[in-house]
Amino acid sequence: MSTEAGLETKAREAIQLLTELQGIDDELMDIALERGDLPEEVERLRADIGAMEAFIAERKQALEETAHLLTDRTGELEEAKVRQTKLQEQLYAVKTTREYDAITAEFNFVKDEIGKFETDITGAIHRKTDLTKQVEERLVTLEKTRAEEKTKGAELNEKLAETEQDERQLQHRRENVVVRLPKPLYAHYERIRKAKDGRGVARILDGACGGCFAVIPPQTQVNIRKMTDIVLCETCGRIIVP
Ligand SMILES: [Zn+2]
Repeated sequence: MSTEAGLETKAREAIQLLTELQGIDDELMDIALERGDLPEEVERLRADIGAMEAFIAERKQALEETAHLLTDRTGELEEAKVRQTKLQEQLYAVKTTREYDAITAEFNFVKDEIGKFETDITGAIHRKTDLTKQVEERLVTLEKTRAEEKTKGAELNEKLAETEQDERQLQHRRENVVVRLPKPLYAHYERIRKAKDGRGVARILDGACGGCFAVIPPQTQVNIRKMTDIVLCETCGRIIVP
């Protein structure tokens, strides 16, 4: 075999290996794409669930505080009303103006207190209703999200189990191809692949580069088809294969 024929054989072998490599990388990219959304989606659902649980816990805590407040104020209101009745009775029995003024002042104070307690109680009742509604609504959403997470989580696990094996096999095949490729050529392929949407190799398509559609001169097209030389697209740098 002459040196030139030897080089041509090398070029042909490299072109075949590069074509195979691109095929493997396409499959790996499909796997990544297939998984792509699902892990993120499951993660998002889990974060949503956490946030909803925290929201519900917080509102339940507030509900408990509101219930305490309601009990306290109701008790205080009862006491104040008893005091009010007593003061009213005392007013009928007063003997002096001073006594009358003192009891009236206390009566007014208790009256104000009663007003305040009643306002607090009304507020607490409204708050209780509002919080209860918030918790109930969020619980419905939480249940839906939990169900979705369960389905998607199972889907993800299944997909991971499926694709992990495929991915391992593809990686193994890839390594076998890469070791047989000249290092600078592989480096060029990797550089272009990473910069150009995962494609370092492009097929010839209607006399143009299948990657960027730049027209390839007829003589170069002949060389590409003969696979006697490594041809790079002058526009995108991809390795052109037949
Ligand atoms: Zn190109």
